[in-house]
Formats: sequence, structure tokens, C-alpha cells
Amino acid sequence: MSGASRLVGGPELPQVRRVVSEIPGPRSRELLARQRTLVPAGLRAALPVFVEAVGGGVIVDADGNSFIDFGSGIAVTTVGNSAAAVTERAAAQLHRFTHTCFLVNPYESYLDVCEKLNELAPVPGEKRTILVNSGAEAVENAVKIARAATGRPGIVVFDHAFHGRTLLTMSLTAKNKPYKQGFGPFAPEVHRAPMAYPYRWPTGPENCAEEAAQALADLLDRQVGAENAAAVLVEPIQGEGGIVVPAPGFLSKVATICRARGILLIVDEIQAGIARTGRMFACEHEGVQPDLITTAKGLAGGLPLGAVTGRAELMDAVPTGGLGGTYSGNPVACEAALGVFEEIETHDLMERAREIGDTMLEHLGVLGDTHPVIGDVRGRGAMVAIELVEPDGERFPAPDLTARVARRCHENGLLVLTAGSYGNVLRFLPPLSISDDLLEEGLSILGEAITKESASAA
Ligand SMILES: *Cc1c(COP(=O)(O)O)cnc(C)c1O
Repeated sequence: MSGASRLVGGPELPQVRRVVSEIPGPRSRELLARQRTLVPAGLRAALPVFVEAVGGGVIVDADGNSFIDFGSGIAVTTVGNSAAAVTERAAAQLHRFTHTCFLVNPYESYLDVCEKLNELAPVPGEKRTILVNSGAEAVENAVKIARAATGRPGIVVFDHAFHGRTLLTMSLTAKNKPYKQGFGPFAPEVHRAPMAYPYRWPTGPENCAEEAAQALADLLDRQVGAENAAAVLVEPIQGEGGIVVPAPGFLSKVATICRARGILLIVDEIQAGIARTGRMFACEHEGVQPDLITTAKGLAGGLPLGAVTGRAELMDAVPTGGLGGTYSGNPVACEAALGVFEEIETHDLMERAREIGDTMLEHLGVLGDTHPVIGDVRGRGAMVAIELVEPDGERFPAPDLTARVARRCHENGLLVLTAGSYGNVLRFLPPLSISDDLLEEGLSILGEAITKESASAA
């Protein structure tokens, strides 16, 4: 793909995989020892090599190793880590001013980002956007807005959901360890419905959308009481939960259930949104029109920025002074976000995401046919995963094998991330600036790692 190489910017890193030391190498191990004396044990890196430079599709560490990047800093550097429009705009803004606080003196780039999101978001009617600093803050604000607009307290979320690490968003998140253990009591008025997770639906994938929708309606009508529910909050593809693509039709059934009861639908596009799945927003694949959408991760190419975009009458329901934050919508991050939209348009990155998805799903499908430990292959665009299970056909999760495969990939110069409620999902979120050569090389390293580790387990 010629477009991809143009995106390799800044340090012009050679687009090669190179392993020259143990992983982590001596310099990284030194720095890790230093980290342990300075940083609490609660933070742990997926691949503890200290970074020197990143660009295109590689991450170069302090020992000179060059890793193929299948992580994008958790789906953040979707347009690449050094996309020209992002770095040039952000650098120019750094020289103009770094901060004024939008609540003290506004600036136009904030409006430009909001205009872009209002134009692109599949929310019906007139729209408004508020900018914040992170994904969790976006979800917090979406809940505040939904409650203020409806006068109702209840929020319904799903099994396997991830919405952040603050008190409210951790309460909305499903998985206990490591996200919630020891951190309670949790925020009240959070209710949880089953997720339409086709691979693990008890009566089979063909019944999944219908039965999961029925379970949601039952929860709303018989437990929560529809008149007490402000919103249903759902990821269009669950990220941390294991790249769970809901059964086809489920999201539109959720929208219908909400509409019939005057409950708002909030779609959390923080991981799946901003071109990653081959559409600007992942819920567009299902033709769903939410009332509110949260974005962050891919929005500003690595600078901290999140947003809530929603129907104007809901967004305007919060009284003056009810929303905001000191750093929210930082001007450097706003310029970076404008650069992200420019990169997506000029390099047709949504098409690139679809190409990457086709390549990954094809290779992984072939791999799945010959490796019974690969229970499921799923995803959309550059958001793809495999679920590893015991090879006996019972779908029993294989988290230890998953961890070993990830480690072997790391040792061979491929960064992969794990995910899933059972810790048995390997997820692949490459930057859209990765070359086809690196993508295919990464997939073959993954294949070898699975072959070797599943053979040694047997
Ligand atoms: C990462 C994530 C969040 C939280 O974002 P932070 O920026 O880490 O606070 C919320 N929702 C989803 C779907 C995410 O993937």
C-alpha cells in the first residue's frame, strides 16, 4: 500500500522487525529496576521494554530492538504515531499557546473539533459536543448528561464491558480483577445485562441477538423499571472484554428497546471509533443512531482528548457551569485531533482499516482451521482478535496458553495485547500506518508462536 509508507514520519524509522537482545534487554531491565523504586506496583506494562522511537508500524526500544506494533498504544495511534498532519499541527500550536482553559478564554480549534464530530457522528438531528481529557471522563460526562436530561438515575451496562477506571466508570466495568478488586464500594444505580457474545451464547450464536435483547428488555421492565433508567451504555465492539462483536442485529434491537421506553442509548466508541473498524464509528456497521456517543483513544493521535457528542436538546439540558474541566479540550490536543481527521481523509484510512481487517481475518481464519486451540476469530477492520481455548471442543478458556503465546510473540519482536474476561483473547489493533509486509510478518510470527506453544502444552 503506497499510502501507508507516506505516513511514516518524524524519525523515519526503518520499517523492520529486529530482535538484538533478550526481551526485555539489559537497558530496559535497568530501567525496570528503577521503575520499581519510583512507581507503584499497581502499574504493569504489557511489554516492559522502554521506548526510544515509534513510527509507521514499529516500536524501537532502548536496547535497539524493533517490534512490529499490533497494539497502537491500545487503539490510540490509529493514524500512526508520527502522522505528519498530527505532529505538525500540534507542534505549531505548542508555539502559539499551550493552555488558556476553555472555561476562561475559548479558542477556535475546540470548535473545529466539535464541528467535525457533530458532522460525522451518526446521532440524529442537531448535535453538540463537549471535549474532555480521557475516555473515562467522556463516559462520566455522558452519564451526567443522560441523568440531567432524563431526570432518571439508572444506567444499564453489559457483561464484559469496560468503561474506565474512575469510581463511576469502574462501577460500569464488568471485570473484577484487576479493575475493581479492593476499590469498592461502587457507584449505585448500575445494572448489568447479558452481552450478545455469539461464541459464548448458551443456546448458540443463531439465538444470540434475539435472546440477549429479550434479557435486556426483561431487566429494564422487571428489575430496574424503565421509568428509572436514564440510559443503556454499550460498546459497539467490546475492547477490553475481548473484541466481542455483538451478534448481528443486537445493537439495533437495543436501540429499539430504548426508544420504546424513553431510555437514552449511549454508544461507547472510545476503542472502536475514529476509523479503526473501517467506518468512522463502529455502530455505523449496524445502522444504529445513538443519542450520545463517547470517543477518546484514536481521537487525537496520542494526545489526551475525549469527547461526548449527542443530541442538542440532551446536551443542552445541563445548566450553565455543570460541565467542564481545567484542561478539557486542550488546544494542542485539539490541533492533533484535527490532524487525525485530515490524515483519515487524505490517506483514505477507513479503506486501509478494511484492507488490514481482510488480511488479518483471512490469515487468522486459515490458522484457526489448523489449530484447535483457536476457538474463535472475530473483529472488524483493524480491531481483530482470536480466542484461545482448550482443544477439546468444550470452549474452555486457555489463559495460560494465551499468556505464553503473547510472551513468545514479544520475544520474537511482535507486540500483541491480551484481553477478555477470561484472559484468553489475543487482540490485534495495528496502526493504520503499518505496511502490508510488517502486517504479514507479524501474522506469521503469531502463527509460529501458537504452533509452538500449543504443541508444548499438549
Ligand atoms: C479505554 C476505554 C475507556 C477508558 O478510557 P481512558 O482514556 O483509559 O479513561 C472507556 N471505554 C472504552 C470502550 C475503552 O476502551
